[in-house]
Amino acid sequence: MAEIIPTISQVKSEALEIFQKEFGKDADVCVFAPGRVNLIGEHTDYNEGFVLPMALPMVTMIVGKLNGKSTCTIVSTSKSITTISKIEFEVSDRSKVVPGEPKWANYVKGCIAFFPADVSGFDAVIVSTVPMGSGLSSSAALEVATYTFIEALTGVECKDLRDKALICQKAEHQFANVPCGIMDQFISVMGQQGHALLLDCRDLSVTQIPMDGIDNYAFLITNSNAPHKLSSSAFQERRDAFSHVINENSRTLAATAAFKAGDYVKVGELMNESHDSLRDNYEVSSNELDTLVNTARKVAGVLGSRLTGAGFGGCTITFLKKDSVDLVIKAINESYSGTASFYIATPSEGARKLDCK
Ligand code: ADP
Ligand code: MG
Repeated sequence: MAEIIPTISQVKSEALEIFQKEFGKDADVCVFAPGRVNLIGEHTDYNEGFVLPMALPMVTMIVGKLNGKSTCTIVSTSKSITTISKIEFEVSDRSKVVPGEPKWANYVKGCIAFFPADVSGFDAVIVSTVPMGSGLSSSAALEVATYTFIEALTGVECKDLRDKALICQKAEHQFANVPCGIMDQFISVMGQQGHALLLDCRDLSVTQIPMDGIDNYAFLITNSNAPHKLSSSAFQERRDAFSHVINENSRTLAATAAFKAGDYVKVGELMNESHDSLRDNYEVSSNELDTLVNTARKVAGVLGSRLTGAGFGGCTITFLKKDSVDLVIKAINESYSGTASFYIATPSEGARKLDCK
């Protein structure tokens, strides 16, 4: 069975309840930002190429309230964090907002440090349904949710969504020390329900690509539960492997055209070629990912399957007829030596503020 993904309103209720328990008062600001899955265009974003991600129904929710102090207190809880983690740090004097321990707080601190206005003390609770370290970009979801939260708290909103995404990326580069591309923050900020986002990383232009024709088809994410290591040295070395990148760019544009034309067989072929190139030319696949992809491809009704995200573990995405979802899950459960989890990815909306009701 694919995992049941809690709805936005369920995640919100949970976060509001935890806030009330932790701080003994009601939150008056509530925001979320989604994780993402990349349909095609892998390792192209930091090479000034094209990517085609969509926002996921799995989100990072932040609720909170100003506290009248110079410090903030943030509690994070997530399916992937078994114990609640709590941090407190100075925010009013931004020269004191610097990276440190615990590491997860650096994603939050970076967004505060680079926010274009002063931030007063606040209390907040973070609840996330985005699996962490699986290539579905819980890191960008955390950054973009943090930025959106501070926008709501201060009333200072970014006029150009590109700037918002770029500041979140800067937080990940400089505070978390991860040399990520720009795709994750862009889609988490700009995602639209029912659409994928074609992003040209050369000039940061974006085109919303409607996905409403795919009613009889589904995107099945399979998490290998073998965590990826984004800051590993292998990833850095492969930043020079351009031949993959040139062909991957052509595939991404061809897949966008095929989605628009309703040529889903072509989309699937391009996804397969993308994986094969990531495995053979860019060398970022793993035995686990290859097993998941090969098993899915053998099932009738599967149009294409590839690793998604940076590689070295993490997830695969399979484009298939809806009727075939259970067959693929069964085939993987029978042949995969690890324990996989499964999510149906529907193209969802980007970050926004919600009512606290
Ligand atoms: P991915 O972005 O693919 O999930 P990363 O390694 O880039 O993987 O980011 C995962 C890291 O982001 C976690 O190890 C943690 O430090 C941080 N993180 C993400 N979401 C949360 C959260 N809700 N609470 C605390 N830390 C989080
Ligand atoms: Mg990440």
